[in-house]
Amino acid sequence: METKNRLVMKFGGTSVGSAEAIIQAADRIEEQVREWDHVVVVVSAMSGVTDALLKSSSQAVKGDIRLFGPVIDDLHKKHYKESNALIKQREERIILQRKIDRFLDDLAAYCRSIHIMGEVTPRGLDTITSFGERMNARVVAAALRQRGINSLAVDATELIVTDGTYQNAVPLMEETREKVKQKLIPLLEDGVTPVVTGFIGASKEGITTTLGRGGSDYTSAIMGDCLDADEVWTLTDVDGVLTADPRIVPEARVIPELSYSAVGELAYFGAKVLHPKTIRPVIARDIPLWVKNTFNPDCPGTRIS
Ligand code: ADP
Ligand code: ASP
Ligand code: MG
Repeated sequence: METKNRLVMKFGGTSVGSAEAIIQAADRIEEQVREWDHVVVVVSAMSGVTDALLKSSSQAVKGDIRLFGPVIDDLHKKHYKESNALIKQREERIILQRKIDRFLDDLAAYCRSIHIMGEVTPRGLDTITSFGERMNARVVAAALRQRGINSLAVDATELIVTDGTYQNAVPLMEETREKVKQKLIPLLEDGVTPVVTGFIGASKEGITTTLGRGGSDYTSAIMGDCLDADEVWTLTDVDGVLTADPRIVPEARVIPELSYSAVGELAYFGAKVLHPKTIRPVIARDIPLWVKNTFNPDCPGTRIS
């Protein structure tokens, strides 16, 4: 008999980039919550948000306080607009929006100090870019709770222990496994569907780090390894790994099955569909990694094993 124990589902920026997209992502999650004993969700920031966060700090470096304010205002408007459209219960929406306010107030404080110093460190950039995933995990968890799914946002700074290489941190797997055991598995055993922030971690000293651009794919594979998941799914805006970049070759077709090594080469040579380090944690445990389309549930996608 087939056992469906643990699934990790990662949603990229466009899959959780608006209220309409999050509704579809939540449909995909709800379907799998019925099928599996435990589902762990990993989310990216809303599409464009990481770039906007980087822009706020580069504008602050330029030394004009009028430059970063509008970037932060736009982030505020975007998160309010999508959460207004998504979260119908007033209480839940107000609590969520207060959390969004707190992150964006912190962002403004960081930008003001960058503005005064005239520079930003890689460490500062990691803290600033972490806010995108941290806000969105809370949005998605609230959307799941609204559907009656017992869900909580979890910051991966509490789970993924890394070295101190800011902007391209290397996870320390033994320490990470221990944190996952202490903090994530008890939630699963309590029937919670956690929504974990992609992309981010923290050093042993507790300072926020990031795994590199596009790193949420890597987060999902790290979670898959530490949870000994049966499958890891990365859900995106195309039907799977395609024969070519669909933005360049519109007639590109889905590849139904790929080996770890073939997809590793594709990612290494720049196919943007998966972060190049993603397959490392899943290879060791032989966990199948699927690339699927959030918006086309009838398409099985690509199975990488
Ligand atoms: P996500 O935000 O879901 O992580 P990304 O934008 O990082 O999504 O990656 C998915 C995008 O990668 C697709 O929209 C597609 O345009 C691009 N892409 C480039 N090469 C490929 C390929 N060989 N197969 C699939 N998608 C590809
Ligand atoms: N939000 C991060 C980025 O834009 C990580 C990710 O999307 O995977 O790079
Ligand atoms: Mg990506």
